[in-house]
Amino acid sequence: MNETLKVPRIQQLQSFSSEFGVYIDVLRLDEIHPIVSGNKWYKLKYYLEDAKQQQKDTIVTFGGAYSNHILATAFACKHYGFKSIGIIRGEETTILSSTLKQAKSFGMDLHFVGRKEYLYKEKLVEQFEQAYIIAEGGEGVLGIKGASTILDQVKIKKYNYIACAIGTGTMISGLLKATNRNQQCIGVNVLKGFEAVERKIIYQIADDSVTNRLKIFNEYHFGGYAKHPTALIEFMNYLWQREEMPTDIVYTSKLFYAVHDLLKQNHFESKSNILIIHSGGLQGNSSLAQGRLLF
Ligand SMILES: *Cc1c(COP(=O)(O)O)cnc(C)c1O
Repeated sequence: MNETLKVPRIQQLQSFSSEFGVYIDVLRLDEIHPIVSGNKWYKLKYYLEDAKQQQKDTIVTFGGAYSNHILATAFACKHYGFKSIGIIRGEETTILSSTLKQAKSFGMDLHFVGRKEYLYKEKLVEQFEQAYIIAEGGEGVLGIKGASTILDQVKIKKYNYIACAIGTGTMISGLLKATNRNQQCIGVNVLKGFEAVERKIIYQIADDSVTNRLKIFNEYHFGGYAKHPTALIEFMNYLWQREEMPTDIVYTSKLFYAVHDLLKQNHFESKSNILIIHSGGLQGNSSLAQGRLLF
């Protein structure tokens, strides 16, 4: 898999950089692979290695109908010769989402469970006792370890700020590990009412000293996970027209919106060097009606 991945490109946000007197670069993880885009590959790789070592032949994981993690897992499992089972939140519909259709085409066996039952998904895996279980979103120690390699090919020292979206908080935990005490990690939480993620991050990287260089913004969820009101879609089109930067409705649009809002509030000292992690997820936009996005 590593051999099929492109080294991520860095794209400067020229127009915003000059308007606000800072330097903003974007790490385009969305471009590293046509299917396993974004941060999901980084979070998966050590789990798959571990599964091989334990001589498991089947991987079980979880997610919703548009989950980037489900799709990435399905593809990576096919690539490495694992069988894969996806436990999908929600009842089966006659028309599968494009994400699930693709996952299925990579050989993933889909098990649909009702939303109530999904809450107890840890119980559901008891029937797959021989399989290797990967938590939803690739959360956990090996996911963090993988995420900490995201910056491996970046000249990271020059950045004062590293900004990313937060779902489970796994990616930002890895980024905190890979950066130093002069660098602040900014996380834009896309879940509503999940302020506890901050404590979770500090706990899971077991390092209290990161507290003062972790800054989480909880106000940019636009109504909640995967909610995408017109104002957000309009911002996505604006960002595309101004910087040719495509974003997804679940994570990266909210991240870029937040950074733009912080720039307008003069949150960053002038000449700050800011790195935004574009964590991918563009396939999730397939849930939108055609024509709403300009890209
Ligand atoms: C999963 C995902 C995230 C969130 O990463 P976490 O490690 O769960 O915080 C961010 N962006 C995209 C595009 C994702 O698919």
